[in-house]
Amino acid sequence: MDNIRGKTIVITGAARGIGYATAKALLARGARVVIGDRDVAVLDKAVTELARGGQATGYPLDVTDAESFAMFLDKARADGAGHIDVLINNAGVMPVGPFLEQSDQAIRTSVEVNFYGVLTGCRLVLPEMVKRHSGHIVNISSLAGMVAVPGQVVYAGTKFAVVGLSTAMADEFAPQGVAVSVVLPTFTNTELISGTATSSAQKPVQPEDIAAGVVKVLDKPAITHLSVPGPLRAVGAITQLLPPRARRWLSHKMGNDTVFLTFDANARADYERRAQSAVGVLETAPEQPSS
Ligand code: NAD
Repeated sequence: MDNIRGKTIVITGAARGIGYATAKALLARGARVVIGDRDVAVLDKAVTELARGGQATGYPLDVTDAESFAMFLDKARADGAGHIDVLINNAGVMPVGPFLEQSDQAIRTSVEVNFYGVLTGCRLVLPEMVKRHSGHIVNISSLAGMVAVPGQVVYAGTKFAVVGLSTAMADEFAPQGVAVSVVLPTFTNTELISGTATSSAQKPVQPEDIAAGVVKVLDKPAITHLSVPGPLRAVGAITQLLPPRARRWLSHKMGNDTVFLTFDANARADYERRAQSAVGVLETAPEQPSS
């Protein structure tokens, strides 16, 4: 049985980055893909591009707004066979920096998008999946959901939450015929890491590598946790068992103790601006501040 060909697969936050690469990979495998994003200008371009590779549609979506999410899913059902086979909760933001310098808005946005948005998506598709005794939810967390480092207090908190909710959900809904998986990417070359200098030990992977990971869990729904690259999950698990001094030594060795505290703020400014206030649908491109 092919879990991808001919299936209606919905991806949030897929106008760019990992979500976009995943949409492309799934179209190549014959899925009907429906993407959502709050950034309408980028979304429209993405849909035009994706539609060259197969059956792709896209609609504005704010994952922090349950009404917007429900309307988006209704459109996705209408584009498909009346139901959703797979939901990929990918939309996410990563404001970083010293915790005491994080604004209330950045903190709330991170929690709303990364945590509440995932819960909302799951609550909206689970009833139909349980009824059909079929379906798969894939939540995109991060290795930051296993390895928490300075400068990522809020982000790590939200990504640990996604790992936790996904584990509990996988085990609660398996008897009801619904699969739940969580994918934990390492540093990936998207705008999300702009301005950060990763060490040679932590060379970023490409969005296509994460897309291949998503394809893998769809092919093998029994996989509930997948890190990309694969071996890093074991490193994450070991890190959690280390005493503080050893953990900090390893973090320092990997360059992780400073990467999210000392970055190129200018190179990161555009990303931080959109990440810190990623609530609501953005109908037009934001005005660039005059220099
Ligand atoms: P990205 O910024 O390139 O893409 C994220 C997309 O989500 C954007 O198009 C953005 O407009 C959209 N989005 C943000 N808030 C939204 C909202 N409220 N409603 C709808 N859409 C919204 O980032 P990415 O690197 O592709 O990240 C995708 C996922 O992968 C995120 O959950 C991120 O935390 C996770 N991740 C990324 C990395 C990395 O290094 N890039 C590593 C681990 C995990």
